[in-house]
Amino acid sequence: MKRILVTGGAGFVGSHLCERLLNEGNEVICLDNYFTGSKRNIEHLMDSHYFELVRHDVTNPYMVEVDEIYNLACPASPVHYQYNPIKTIKTSVMGAINMLGLAKRVGAKILQASTSEVYGDPAVHPQPETYWGNVNPIGLRSCYDEGKRCAETLFMDYHIQNDVKIKIIRIFNTYGPNMNPNDGRVVSNFIVQALKGEDITIFGDGKQTRSFQYVDDLIEGTVRMMNSREGFVGPVNIGNPHEFTMLELANKVIGLTNSKSKLIHLPLPQDDPLQRQPIIELAKKELNNWSPKVELEEGLTKTISYFDTLLTN
Ligand code: NAD
Ligand code: UDP
Repeated sequence: MKRILVTGGAGFVGSHLCERLLNEGNEVICLDNYFTGSKRNIEHLMDSHYFELVRHDVTNPYMVEVDEIYNLACPASPVHYQYNPIKTIKTSVMGAINMLGLAKRVGAKILQASTSEVYGDPAVHPQPETYWGNVNPIGLRSCYDEGKRCAETLFMDYHIQNDVKIKIIRIFNTYGPNMNPNDGRVVSNFIVQALKGEDITIFGDGKQTRSFQYVDDLIEGTVRMMNSREGFVGPVNIGNPHEFTMLELANKVIGLTNSKSKLIHLPLPQDDPLQRQPIIELAKKELNNWSPKVELEEGLTKTISYFDTLLTN
């Protein structure tokens, strides 16, 4: 049995990861400050003797004896990470320093949840891990993008300078149950709007693209990365290469919910990337032939059913 710390464990992705690690027979410590996460996401795990919940902010040091750390703490939705940009960058940078310090001290292996945002508005398409990105350092998204880029740098430096065992994954847009209905990201927004019969808010002309990954595929890739061969640290893209425009996504959601909602267009936010698609050859090679299994329609159906229950209760 391993003792594993999951920062941001009460969030959307973290809650699925805690459940998976617990089901595999590990002891799990879920650390969160509940900025965007919720106890509701992990309440079904509370009965387990092997599950512990800690209210803590990763910008402050935290000490515990663990074998592995998954560092997920950071708001991920543009609405939430732009609410307090200074806090967002502190969470990424100081959170990384504090968790890497802990890993160094107790000899734990540590995985960083990085993001496709490190590629910014990519001039290379689709994106391989070798692409250095096209990021505005002083825009509305910079607190998140640059914070995550700096965290990657810190991870590599602790690895090279102090021999800390690190793993870095770059997560592409992921969706699924346990997203907050007020999360503000596109999939949850469109589903909640469609279920409530409200207008579907398309930012810009809706021709910008994203590649959407269902959360189960992300969790599988994440755990495989933590357990990958010692010499492999990443960064590795974890995402679904099937790319859709926001208009296509909206129409799929309307179809699957039988909604009467209409599409309305709102201004495109500053620095909104035009396109996003991962190359996943490295993940396939290094993570035991990992590839996403859940396609958009199946994943959306499961997510719609989650929100339907949530909104009617
Ligand atoms: P989320 O907002 O649902 O979860 C983030 C969690 O971190 C929340 O529970 C929040 O309360 C917690 N948190 C925030 N600041 C904290 C702090 N200072 N101290 C302690 N806890 C804090 O978002 P998510 O989608 O679950 O994302 C999880 C991780 O994956 C994030 O690091 C995010 O950057 C990364 N990621 C997610 C996606 C995606 O599409 N879901 C894509 C790329 C990267
Ligand atoms: N978007 C949209 N309507 C919404 C929310 C988002 O059209 O209600 C668009 C947004 O402009 C972006 C894409 O959907 O082009 C993905 O946005 P999200 O906030 O989910 O994640 P991002 O990949 O931009 O971080």
